[in-house]
Amino acid sequence: MTDSPLLCRILSIALALCTLSSATAQEWKSGIEWQEPPLVTPGTTNDAPPSDAVVLFDGSSLEAWENGEKWLVQDGVAIPRETAISTKQHFGDLQLHLEWSAPTEIRGEGQGRGNSGCYLMGQYEVQILDSFENKTYFDGQAGSIYKQTPPMANAMRKPGEWNSYEILFTAPRFRSNGDVVRPGFVTLIQNGIVMLNHFELEGSTSYTEAARYRPHAETGPIQLQFHGDAVRFRNIWVRELRPPAGRRVSPPFNIPVKPQPAANPAAAATSVD
Ligand code: MG
Repeated sequence: MTDSPLLCRILSIALALCTLSSATAQEWKSGIEWQEPPLVTPGTTNDAPPSDAVVLFDGSSLEAWENGEKWLVQDGVAIPRETAISTKQHFGDLQLHLEWSAPTEIRGEGQGRGNSGCYLMGQYEVQILDSFENKTYFDGQAGSIYKQTPPMANAMRKPGEWNSYEILFTAPRFRSNGDVVRPGFVTLIQNGIVMLNHFELEGSTSYTEAARYRPHAETGPIQLQFHGDAVRFRNIWVRELRPPAGRRVSPPFNIPVKPQPAANPAAAATSVD
């Protein structure tokens, strides 16, 4: 039965080891005093603007945009006309949500079909193109950073159906002499599918020139391209991103963890995470 001397001895050693482990466990502390993350109330759905979003287009008007009056706003959607539009407010690091739909009337091919684009800081184009059964150069299809990288997938919905873009952008940083301190980065999710994963921008995007950085301010406008095609837009909002704030109040340190009395030694051994 359980009063076997060997079994009793094994149980005693196990209990002693557990007790020793609890007595000597140390919790690691970073020494950084973090500020509490701000409360943000989510939208009713994940594509609806949360409480801290700047709404750029809710279907009613483009008054948040320079030249917005030149585009057609009809039936809750915006359609490019005449020229590009740029947000009056400028942004640096951001989370951007926008929805777009390629024209149902299919005209042209390649870059000539359903072309627009979202220029971050007015410089870095995330391509918008009807890439549904429409081949073009891969670093120019929907979800590419124009002429810098193709997307990791073609996740297009059919013309007339709505695509969503979630863009995470880290703006480049420049020294006062124009040197790049840190390049920009773009992550793009189209229709729930990762297209770009923290892609390092090589500089401004261009049709005619190699990418290169041109120093600019810490913030800039979001620009939507006019390329002559009746791409439709809806539900555009943006959040400014700020990294968690904290200050170092001491070097990293350990603190002893008080042994927890527990009926089950196994539970005690795993209770310090
Ligand atoms: Mg374009």
